[in-house]
Amino acid sequence: MINRHALSRLALIVALTAASSACASMDQAASQGSDGAAYMAAHRSALTLDTHLDTPANLVSPRGFDITKRYDTDREGYQVDLPRMNEGGLDGGFWAIYTAQGPLTPEAYARARDTALLRSAAIREMAARHADAFALALRADDAARIDADGRKVVFQSIENSYPLGEDISMVETFYKLGVRMIGPVHNGNNQFADSTNDSSGPRWNGLSPLGAQLVKEANRLGMVLDGSHASDVAIAQLIDMSATPIILSHHGADGPYQHPRNAPDELLKKLAAKGGVIQMNALGSFIKPLQQSPERVAALSALRDRWGAIDDLPADKYDAYLDERLAIDARYPEARAEFSDYMDQFLYTLKLIGPEHVGVGADWDGGGGVNGMRDVSQLPRITERLLAEGYSEADLKNIWGGNVLRLLRAAETHAAAVASR
Ligand SMILES: [Zn+2]
Repeated sequence: MINRHALSRLALIVALTAASSACASMDQAASQGSDGAAYMAAHRSALTLDTHLDTPANLVSPRGFDITKRYDTDREGYQVDLPRMNEGGLDGGFWAIYTAQGPLTPEAYARARDTALLRSAAIREMAARHADAFALALRADDAARIDADGRKVVFQSIENSYPLGEDISMVETFYKLGVRMIGPVHNGNNQFADSTNDSSGPRWNGLSPLGAQLVKEANRLGMVLDGSHASDVAIAQLIDMSATPIILSHHGADGPYQHPRNAPDELLKKLAAKGGVIQMNALGSFIKPLQQSPERVAALSALRDRWGAIDDLPADKYDAYLDERLAIDARYPEARAEFSDYMDQFLYTLKLIGPEHVGVGADWDGGGGVNGMRDVSQLPRITERLLAEGYSEADLKNIWGGNVLRLLRAAETHAAAVASR
């Protein structure tokens, strides 16, 4: 059941959203097709979806965030906005409803549920407010239709099912709000599954009994199950238990670099054998060991101590804070992975399981980004490199969006079959 307060707030937001007028039309054409390079033509002809955009967290920033405005990643940190999506030929993706893991108590579940419901409302509000530039997508076929009329594709996904509490009916509630991809767990074991990052080790040895119910319910409704952040054992169980192929929406491969957020070869082969897909994550510390200099760590710590809660700063103070932080970045640069490191992971995985089982989920606005590809405007570099490696335009279409849409279609077909039984 949904908390009544959350429901009435949600109804209010949906009503406000419907009433708000569409924003002034964006000059999309101006930022498209300016690069005459052959790889840009190939890039633009593919329907490009990133399967893990953490951008919705910015939509509820107390400072305000305008998705139609161009930001600077080095300054504000934001990596996804409409101008840069246009520049990088990113046609949309799965916009994540992320909830940090908290205590497994009824009170904490209720708080998390409200936060997640409001996050979904914020995503829907973004699409409604900027209806000339974005559109909610509910079915796989919606993606091509939305792209054809020049708008960005907004699928919703859940990163961490913690806010569902122990009420499995909440899966359907989120489905009705438009969620089509669902990951049981994040950092820390929860009521559904073991996390790959829990210092206490496994609690369930994979999925819990409630986690098994979540799989069944997601299958019944037609949602794609997402194993990213789950333990390898839990991922293997998701692959076995799900009636349709699963996704690792933002993940890496252990082959080039062993890390808890990367999957070993055998697991990736098992994923692919059942038709599943891994979407390559560009989060630097999952790609190679990164050591920040002690000077940088100390300077950032002193900065935090001096400014306190950054989210509460008024605009002028926030600007002063950003100036100081940029000065630290200039003096003690952040250790980052390189674009070539990212592509090493990518190409390794492609060779291991093939272009029908690999895609892009770079963890934008969630820690992703490497030197040479720090925001979505630089995504065409992936296409450029894959073409240079001999991948065909048909391969590129699968990698950039075809694979994930195949999974969503399979989920829809299964749900229809279950419903007609
Ligand atoms: Zn994540």
